[in-house]
Amino acid sequence: TTELLKVSNLKQYFPIKGGILGRKINDVKAVDDVSFYVNAGETLSIVGESGCGKSTTGRAILRLDEPTSGEISFNGKDLLALNKREMRKMRKDLQIIFQDPYASINPRQTVRQVLNEAMEIQNVLPKEKREDRMMELMETVGLGAHQLDRFPHEFSGGQRQRIGIARALSVDPKLIICDESVSALDVSIQAQVLNLLKKLQRELDLTYLFIAHDLGVVRHISDRVIVMYLGKIVEIADKKSLFDNPKHPYTKTLLSAIPVPDPTKKKDQIILKGDVPSPIDPPTGCRFHTRCPFATDKCKEEIPELRTSEINMAAGHQAACHYIEEIESGEMTPNY
Ligand code: SF4
Ligand code: MG
Repeated sequence: TTELLKVSNLKQYFPIKGGILGRKINDVKAVDDVSFYVNAGETLSIVGESGCGKSTTGRAILRLDEPTSGEISFNGKDLLALNKREMRKMRKDLQIIFQDPYASINPRQTVRQVLNEAMEIQNVLPKEKREDRMMELMETVGLGAHQLDRFPHEFSGGQRQRIGIARALSVDPKLIICDESVSALDVSIQAQVLNLLKKLQRELDLTYLFIAHDLGVVRHISDRVIVMYLGKIVEIADKKSLFDNPKHPYTKTLLSAIPVPDPTKKKDQIILKGDVPSPIDPPTGCRFHTRCPFATDKCKEEIPELRTSEINMAAGHQAACHYIEEIESGEMTPNY
């Protein structure tokens, strides 16, 4: 396996300005010291509730927002060292698909114009060859070449997402960041688009960074999964380990909220206290301590590092909790 993307110690702080002179009064620590890698050909998902920093992470990788600090290496290149022009060229290899692709597209352009423009910007093919490529792309995403002269509003949400996929594919990328790409769709349409993404991955050797809040969707598409809470990674594992054997109390609560096929397998449900605190002034120590029923004084003071444990954790499975072992063994029980 080759590492296609590597993110190291990524921080994304957004200043909040206030007062009469608009001086900086604080930072929103939207992403706070996040590190992970994505292997070529895999799907790594990032899940978490809104505001956990998952979309911010995706945007920082593409430098849609300039990261505060950290390192991002893509295909061996240091992305943060590139100038604007070089970064634009890099977008040939690194595409993003949003929840509604047409939020970023001129509604007065036909699909043909949209695809042609994407290829033109990246110099993908000589003009005369683009027509064939566009027709092929439309077939690839299951829409058919006859739809090329239609406008965005003439398509359903699921079809629009297929156009977003065609647009991303038109430049022949290596990695696609899918930011809530199926979140707005009905469940049956979601499944179709997810199946399309999987098929394309196999056929075109694509790598996905898949950002979503819906664990059902993530379960369908991922090889590995990252769980984020308030700007930090709290758990990372193979899909199977994460779903069958979650270790972080937050992951356990997220999973207990989704329906399971076999209800007897539903174990140790954890009830959370309160709401997600503000990322402007996140809790000290473990950011989850204000809501965690296992929290101790140590949790309020010491930041837990991502780590593995001798106890029942598969290779590559890591959680950021001081008490993985004690919770697993039942030595610690939730105090409600
Ligand atoms: Fe809960 Fe403490 Fe573990 Fe954080 S470190 S998840 S507060 S037990
Ligand atoms: Mg988001």
